Amino acid sequence: MFDLIIRQGKTIDHQKMDIGIKDGKILQVAPVINASAVHEYRLQENEFISAGWIDDHVHCFEEMTLYYDYPDEVGYKQGVTTVIDAGTTGAENIHRFYDLAQEAKTNVFALVNISKWGIVEQDELADLSKIKANLVSDIVEKFPNFIVGLKARMSKTVIGDNGITPLELAKEIQKANQGLPLMVHIGSAPPTLDAILNHMERGDVLTHCFNGKENGILDRGTQSIKSFVFDAYEKGIAFDIGHGTDSFNFDVAERALSENIKAASISTDIYIRNRTNGPVYDLATTMEKLAVVGYDWKEIIDKVTVAPALQFKLNKKGKIAVGYDADLTVFSFKEADKVLTDSNGNTRTTSIQIIPTKAVIGGEIFETEY
Ligand SMILES: [Zn+2]
Repeated sequence: MFDLIIRQGKTIDHQKMDIGIKDGKILQVAPVINASAVHEYRLQENEFISAGWIDDHVHCFEEMTLYYDYPDEVGYKQGVTTVIDAGTTGAENIHRFYDLAQEAKTNVFALVNISKWGIVEQDELADLSKIKANLVSDIVEKFPNFIVGLKARMSKTVIGDNGITPLELAKEIQKANQGLPLMVHIGSAPPTLDAILNHMERGDVLTHCFNGKENGILDRGTQSIKSFVFDAYEKGIAFDIGHGTDSFNFDVAERALSENIKAASISTDIYIRNRTNGPVYDLATTMEKLAVVGYDWKEIIDKVTVAPALQFKLNKKGKIAVGYDADLTVFSFKEADKVLTDSNGNTRTTSIQIIPTKAVIGGEIFETEY
């Protein structure tokens, strides 16, 4: 007897399946499951199913004032079953975030900011005494199932006069913690993008990859991708969208695609203000933006499921497969025009919208707010 059987699930690449769930795990995947369940949910003809959507760059610790939100507001209500908070908190305050995160229905993980209080101020890496390697190691050991990586924000307003030093310290901390995934935020120089990429290695995650700033991947003069960016891309640095208020530009994303540079993962950098007032709104809208740039829907779904799960070693998430967590997103497509706006006020119009209708988290079905 299953707890839940999802009937006539159809993936974006048109595989059809029943999914049997028990104790929060996927127990069977088959064309037809001949068994009964406490609950059954039958997909409608126009609905699709994927592994639960993972947004690997959000800010959802409500007790902060600069960047804050609530996990379920950016989670299941928007069809997102797992969020990764990207460094809102550091070693000194992440325990409080952990406590609140346990109350959410959405799965919540965190990248710990290398600065010990996280983003309490905009310049958290301007004072190197706030980077305490031993504090980070202690907290990583204390919350092994919550902290899935490290975060370092490497842009002018954050680092003060410290140049590349905070990133060098982040890499040392990473090495002292079994190579924990490291996400690096980029923005205005200093440091230059070239210097940042030189310090990053295979598997590290570069967020805000398609920002429209001078220090971004696009050379404003030649309108082509800067040559050193190809070396970084080929080295295996994962490019992450991290849309945010200031960090996604259609021209950059389109130019990158035309030169065969693609984002590895699609994320929002969402928090209450860019969720409420735009230009982010939700993960679905960010996915629509990559669709108008030219990504196909199959790869877009991969970039919010299997890709972020691999990047942050969420080993039981990101796939519809036996033994995996029963996290799923049900969605449909609507043919209707919608104007999409990037962080610099540029617009594109999509004629296809993606609408997440249900989120299944640990085998429990939640209605989204669409
Ligand atoms: Zn962020």
